[in-house]
Amino acid sequence: MIEEIKDKYELIVGLEVHAQLLTKSKAFSSDRNEYGNLPNTNTNPVSLGHPGTLPVLNEKSAEFAVRLGLSVQANIRENNEFARKNYFYADLPKGYQITQDTTPICTGGFISIKDGQGKPKKVGLTRIHMEEDSGKSIHDISPFDTLIDLNRAGVPLLEIVSEPDMRSGDEAYAYLTEVRKLVRYLEICDGNMEEGSLRCDANVSIREKGAKEFGTRVEVKNLNSIRNVKRAIDFEFNRHVKMIEAGEKVLKSTLTFNAGTGETSIMRTKEEADDYRYFPEPDLQPLVITKDYIEGIRKTMPPLPTELYEKYINLGLSDYDAGVLTDNKGFALYFESLLQFVKNPKSAANWMMGEVKGHINEMAIDISGFDVTAERLAGLINLVDSGKMGQTMASQQLFPLLTKFLDNTADELAEEHGLVQVANTDELKSWIAAAMERFPDKVAEYRSGKKGILGLFMGEVMRLSDGKADPKKTNQMLREALDN
Ligand code: ADP
Ligand code: MG
Repeated sequence: MIEEIKDKYELIVGLEVHAQLLTKSKAFSSDRNEYGNLPNTNTNPVSLGHPGTLPVLNEKSAEFAVRLGLSVQANIRENNEFARKNYFYADLPKGYQITQDTTPICTGGFISIKDGQGKPKKVGLTRIHMEEDSGKSIHDISPFDTLIDLNRAGVPLLEIVSEPDMRSGDEAYAYLTEVRKLVRYLEICDGNMEEGSLRCDANVSIREKGAKEFGTRVEVKNLNSIRNVKRAIDFEFNRHVKMIEAGEKVLKSTLTFNAGTGETSIMRTKEEADDYRYFPEPDLQPLVITKDYIEGIRKTMPPLPTELYEKYINLGLSDYDAGVLTDNKGFALYFESLLQFVKNPKSAANWMMGEVKGHINEMAIDISGFDVTAERLAGLINLVDSGKMGQTMASQQLFPLLTKFLDNTADELAEEHGLVQVANTDELKSWIAAAMERFPDKVAEYRSGKKGILGLFMGEVMRLSDGKADPKKTNQMLREALDN
């Protein structure tokens, strides 16, 4: 489509995210909350919706909601009620879902992202509420039947509803990336979109730039990766522009996204709002969340990605470095401990993003499986920073030793494997002389003013010394030798 036409319109996006909580048992029963078990094995009479069974709230889900609420600076409600959302479906044996209607546990707050220009932007949150998941209907195993697995029925969820604050597919991508990072830092959800532990519905509309009113929105479901959320939004933007330009009307509808074709298709159009006949859940007491309870949880909050990011920026690290270091909680916490033992944050960051990342990628392990303690790694970094060892020798020889011999310090290993730098003047002199003898014409070039050739001699001395020549001292002595 012609860019000028698209340029007349503005995209509006609001996201609804469902996060499955990492509790041991389900939201209102003692059934195990575990993914991947044989179908219909995590199913007691409560999950199966047998008449006469009663729900009992799993306190952990409220605790997790408060943790999330605190991390996004939301208001946390004191008097929480549960409600029944009534509808019929084969994977919902009770005939209703327990959720929160008019009293969501959190309201307000925001998620910080970067907008299209790379400027910080706050995406507002409308609400976060507690609810239970439905079972799963499986349509693609049997050609004749739909299969039902109720292991998921009753698994605790938090629904995180954003304000319609995002203005591009990229902003939605950034928002979801932040939400996923946050729930992982808080250890309340594993954030795995492929397995459905984090799910997203995208609400999309467009309006002419400058217009006050929002256009009619559609809701896209079945988005199982952050990339697909962005693809679906970008597709919808184009589709809406085409329709409006052709004088057609966008209908309020629910769509599904096909990741194979990159296109959406309409599942149903809704003329009126669905009527779920919400009413207060008579089987559960209201949940009262006291100030003391909230303060107790505040004390156990882990460091948050945005706080660490700010901290690293203030230490003088680049936006890129601070971003990579805080992407993963384990990685950030390792860097935190490293900072206790090194003087220069920038070199610590370089080692994290270079050797450490390279090593864990190569071994296909998580940072939690990286056995070198921060203190031992700091020993190596300090050898380099103090000029006692060259970067190349440290990364190519000492670092691999450090990952192999876990009982020795960097100093011990350097000593034992003869990696200690040679600063002895006589030895350096002989290497320098040999290097100059090997390249007499280069010596002449240097002396005629081509000072850049110094690097060649440095390289040669390093080669002759197996990388052991003290680089600082060599550099200084080389200059003297060449200048004479
Ligand atoms: P529903 O239950 O009908 O999905 P909700 O209020 O739970 O409604 O969710 C509405 C979602 O749609 C919110 O994320 C909100 O930001 C978003 N939204 C509302 N209006 C628009 C609009 N015109 N364009 C895009 N998103 C919108
Ligand atoms: Mg919705």
